[in-house]
Amino acid sequence: MHEYSMTTMIVDAVLEEARRHDAEKVLEVELVIGEFTFLNPEQVEFWYKVLSERDSILKGSKVRIELRRGYIRCPKCGYEGKLMYRDDTAYHLMVPTLLCPECKGIAEIITGRECTIKRIRLLGRGHESSAKG
Ligand SMILES: [Zn+2]
Repeated sequence: MHEYSMTTMIVDAVLEEARRHDAEKVLEVELVIGEFTFLNPEQVEFWYKVLSERDSILKGSKVRIELRRGYIRCPKCGYEGKLMYRDDTAYHLMVPTLLCPECKGIAEIITGRECTIKRIRLLGRGHESSAKG
């Protein structure tokens, strides 16, 4: 239910933004989801659909998800790059150990933990506008 609670927060933020702009409708929401959030984009899409149906402003709006690749850095040897996964089938359940592929030291996450609203397309009073989040 990780995706459910995250999507609830996203929907709340979108609604707040729509109200601030006095919008009649939300047309489209663009999200950026980092690899290390371990969110399943299909699940986020599913919950967005379910949650948006409950609100007249959100009803019928679309969600677009951009996945952002995560990167790690190793303070010991200076490696920068992708995280290695040993078991892809367990990807969503696994808590990753951030082992450096070069020296097996503990690496740090540089990017990939973000889950942000990139853009919201709103329908206001007879005009379309965009909001950055
Ligand atoms: Zn290293």
